[in-house]
Amino acid sequence: MTGLDLTWSPAEDAFRAEAREWLEANLAAWHAEHGGEAAIASGDTRAGFAQHLDWERRLHAGGWAAVSWPEEHGGRGASLWEWLIFEEEYYRAGAPPRVTQNGIFLLAPTVFEFGTRDQQAHILPRMAAAEDLWCQGWSEPGAGSDLAAIRCRASRVEGGWRLDGQKTWTTRGAFCTHLFGLFRTDPESERHRGLSYLLVPLDLPGVTVRGFGRLDGDEGFAEVFFDGAFLADDALPGGVVLGEAGQGWSVAMATTGSERGLTLRSPGRFLATADRLFDLYRRDPQPRLRDRLADAYIRAEAYQLYTLDTVTRLAGGAAMGADSSINKLWWSELDVELHELALDLLGPEAEVEGPWSKGWQFALSGPIYAGTNEIQRNIAAERLLGLPRK
Ligand SMILES: Cc1cc2nc3c(=O)[nH]c(=O)nc-3n(C[C@H](O)[C@H](O)[C@H](O)COP(=O)(O)OP(=O)(O)OC[C@H]3O[C@@H](n4cnc5c(N)ncnc54)[C@H](O)[C@@H]3O)c2cc1C
Repeated sequence: MTGLDLTWSPAEDAFRAEAREWLEANLAAWHAEHGGEAAIASGDTRAGFAQHLDWERRLHAGGWAAVSWPEEHGGRGASLWEWLIFEEEYYRAGAPPRVTQNGIFLLAPTVFEFGTRDQQAHILPRMAAAEDLWCQGWSEPGAGSDLAAIRCRASRVEGGWRLDGQKTWTTRGAFCTHLFGLFRTDPESERHRGLSYLLVPLDLPGVTVRGFGRLDGDEGFAEVFFDGAFLADDALPGGVVLGEAGQGWSVAMATTGSERGLTLRSPGRFLATADRLFDLYRRDPQPRLRDRLADAYIRAEAYQLYTLDTVTRLAGGAAMGADSSINKLWWSELDVELHELALDLLGPEAEVEGPWSKGWQFALSGPIYAGTNEIQRNIAAERLLGLPRK
C-alpha cells in the first residue's frame, strides 16, 4: 500500500450536505404527519409498518430509496461511496429502520446479478417505490443453519409450478406482497442440488401467511404455508425463476453475500449508535465503563474503515466471497456490545420498553439471523483459513 487518502471529494461533501438537509426536513415532516415522533410505532407491527411505508414512499419521491441503483430502476445513480455517505447521514439523523430492506438490500443485488432485463425492469422500480414488498422465504421448520435440508417443493406442471410446504421466520411476511424463496424443483435431488430461487406473489390461492409475535411482542415474523398453490410462469413479467431453474443454491449464495456483506448493515448504523452511547456517558459519566466505551467506539470506526476497504475492492472488480462471513461476525457482535454497554450505563433506568432495551433485544438476534455466527465461523475456518471440515 503506498498511501491512503480518506478525504471525501468536494462533490461527495456536497452530496452529504444535500442528504443531510433532505433527511432533516423530511423526518420532521413525516413525524408531524403521524402526530409526532412518539406516535410512530415499530415497523414490525401492522400499524407501524403502515406508518413506515409512508416514510419509504417519501424516500422514493425524493430519490433516496435506493441511492446506488441506476435511475431507470428507481435509484439515484450514486456511487457506492455516496451510498455509504447517505447511510451515515441516515442513521445520524435518527431515521427509522427500512421496512423494505429485505427487498432493497437482499433481493435487489441478486436481481441485478441474475435477473433478466424484463425481471429487472419490472421488479426493481416497484420495489424502490414500495409498491411491491418482498420478504425472504428460506428457513423452514426443519431447515435453518442447514439450509440445504429444505423440503418446500415446486413441482413442474403445465404453465408453471405447484408449490407445497412451509416456510417460517419470514420477517414481516404478514405485511409483504411477495416472497423470494428457495424451493426443491427436482424431486430426485438432494441437498444443494435441484433447488430453484422462485419469486412468489403472496396473494396466490393456496398460499396462507400467518403472522406471529416475537419475544418483544411485535408481529415481526410469519409462517408461510403453500398448499398446492399454482405459480404461473408469467405471474411476473420476465418469469418467476431468478437465475436458472435448478441453480437456486448459487443464486441464494449471492443473496447471503449481500445479507452478511456490504448492504444490510452499513457502518453508519453503528457509528450513530456509538455517538449516542457517548451522549449517554456524558450525561452521567461512569469512569469504570470508560474503557469499554472507547473500545466500542474504536470497533465501530474499525468497521467503517474495513467497509471503505471493501468498497475499494468491489469498485476494482473483486467479489466479496467468504469475507462476508467475517463482516457479519463483526457487525453482529459489535451491535450486542454497543447495546449491552448502553444498558450498563443506564443501570436501573433502562426501561424494558425503552429504545435501548428494545435495541438490545433486537441486537441479540444479530448473531442468529443472516446465518448464525457459529456457521460464519465454520465458513471462515474452512474457506478463508483452509482448515479441515472435521
Ligand atoms: C430476527 C430474525 C429474523 C429472521 N428472518 C428470516 C427471514 O426473513 N427469512 C428466513 O428465511 N429466515 C429468517 N430467520 C431465520 C434464520 O435464518 C435462522 O434462525 C437461522 O438460520 C438459524 O436457523 P435455526 O433457527 O433453525 O437454528 P438451528 O439451525 O437449529 O441452530 C441452532 C443452534 O445450533 C448451531 N448450529 C447448527 N448447525 C451448526 C454447525 N454445523 N456448526 C456449529 N453450530 C451449529 C447454530 O449456530 C445455533 O446456535 C430470521 C431469524 C431471526 C432471529
